[in-house]
Amino acid sequence: MSVHHAPDHPATALETLHIDGLWQPAKSGATREIVDPADATVLAFVSEGDVADTDAAVAAARRAFDDGPWPHRPVADRAGLLRRVADLLQRDREEIAITESRDTGKTLEEGRVDVDDVTSAFRYFADLVMNESGGRVVDAGHPDVHSVVVHEPVGVCALIAPWNYPLLQAGWKIAPALAAGNTFVLKPSEVTPLSAVHLIRLLAEAGLPDGAANLVTGAGDPVGARLSEHPDVDLVSFTGGLAGGAKAAQAAAPTVKKVALELGGKNPNVVFADSCATDEGFDTAVDQALNAAFLHSGQVCSAGARLVVEESLRERFVAELARRADAIRLGRGTVEGVECGPLVSAQQLAKVEAYVASAREEGAVVRSGGVRPEATETLPASGYFYRPTVLDGCHREMRVVREETFGPILTVETFRTEEEAVTLANDTDYGLAGAVWTSDAGRARRVAARLRHGTVWINDYHPHLPQAEWGGFGRSGSGRAQGPAGLAQYRESKHIYQNLNPRPRRRFAS
Ligand code: NAD
Repeated sequence: MSVHHAPDHPATALETLHIDGLWQPAKSGATREIVDPADATVLAFVSEGDVADTDAAVAAARRAFDDGPWPHRPVADRAGLLRRVADLLQRDREEIAITESRDTGKTLEEGRVDVDDVTSAFRYFADLVMNESGGRVVDAGHPDVHSVVVHEPVGVCALIAPWNYPLLQAGWKIAPALAAGNTFVLKPSEVTPLSAVHLIRLLAEAGLPDGAANLVTGAGDPVGARLSEHPDVDLVSFTGGLAGGAKAAQAAAPTVKKVALELGGKNPNVVFADSCATDEGFDTAVDQALNAAFLHSGQVCSAGARLVVEESLRERFVAELARRADAIRLGRGTVEGVECGPLVSAQQLAKVEAYVASAREEGAVVRSGGVRPEATETLPASGYFYRPTVLDGCHREMRVVREETFGPILTVETFRTEEEAVTLANDTDYGLAGAVWTSDAGRARRVAARLRHGTVWINDYHPHLPQAEWGGFGRSGSGRAQGPAGLAQYRESKHIYQNLNPRPRRRFAS
């Protein structure tokens, strides 16, 4: 991926900045090539925004918030717009899924699931804001006082999204932000910006006023950094890695912006032997361990990258896992029958290879994968493919166990007692998600209650619901997306205290 400081490919360059209702190129004329991870060819050129473009987008969002109609639209109108966007997403489902698959490498089926997920989020927040639009009358303890708490939009929101779920993460932010009456500037990842362009087009088609939704494509620094520090931005909602999130929060601190962070994870998938007492139970737990670790080639914040398995089950479980991991069909995400696409970039592939090398040095045993696939016509050597990898014999001091690899790497740790299982599962700086597999209902509830993670699955992995909060304990972030807390993040509360019978207070004698 490289940046061109002159529009040297005008024929293929898309104008991807959307400011005050107009699509436009970067003021500097710079473009960036967007690469197809399946073969490293160029998919598109997008505009490469910088500080000047970011400032123009913030100014447009500010005007649209301070003087524009959107924040004052009746709630039913805002909800209606969100529902129209949901319908448009479904109309364009296949086209968006193909874009997402080509840009990120994920399978077409995963791309379709993402479109459906975002559609649900728009519908959910439309319903929620209708149900929660009224104020809350509070008892002031006096008959002459009417006291009510109302909700208002926060203002101009900077929405900063990662590359692994470009459409989904943008949608999870935009739906509650607009439902609450905010205006925004979206900064998608510079690695995978294409579906965001489509989504912004749909907002305009649905009737959102100019300036309420702005898009600046470009690098984290300067675009994300400028948004985070900008004095006219009221809220920063950042989804991405720990390092970028910490920088965004630091940049936002001097102006005391509201900051919501959805960061990484190192998520445990805890398997008790009792869950595998029957053949069906065994098959399910193994199958779901693959789903946990290798969905989207492991490039999922909530990936179950740490298998924490009961010692007595370990050999049988890991042998079957490795057998099935070896059979996973790699290929271009848009090709029918492909189960795992490439990693998103050369940089991501290099990072995964470095983690496997360090794990080997630290004594991990490679039970499957640990290599790039052999190049074939459908798996060109230029693509960023890596075999799903199972690393046995891991322990908590290894880098590969402690750090988020964000690739198709599953580490295996073992425990003997329930206590030990909980200790291992919680032994991470992160706290995004985790699962427990057991046929013992009491144990399931005990362990779930003790896991310090924002989402806990019992006998399942990965499902999430728009009506349930999503977010992390520890260094996985602060604040919550989705659910009522997801809407609250984009609202200010205001207490209005009305004295119905005002009288002098006589605090001062003269
Ligand atoms: P990243 O932190 O590299 O980038 C995220 C976004 O931040 C990008 O748009 C990037 O351009 C921007 N950015 C980079 N530097 C910045 C700065 N100094 N100031 C402001 N913005 C800046 O993350 P990524 O590699 O795109 O995404 C992968 C990460 O995202 C993983 O750690 C993953 O776990 C996390 N993630 C978390 C969730 C969640 O819900 N918790 C969901 C998806 C991804």
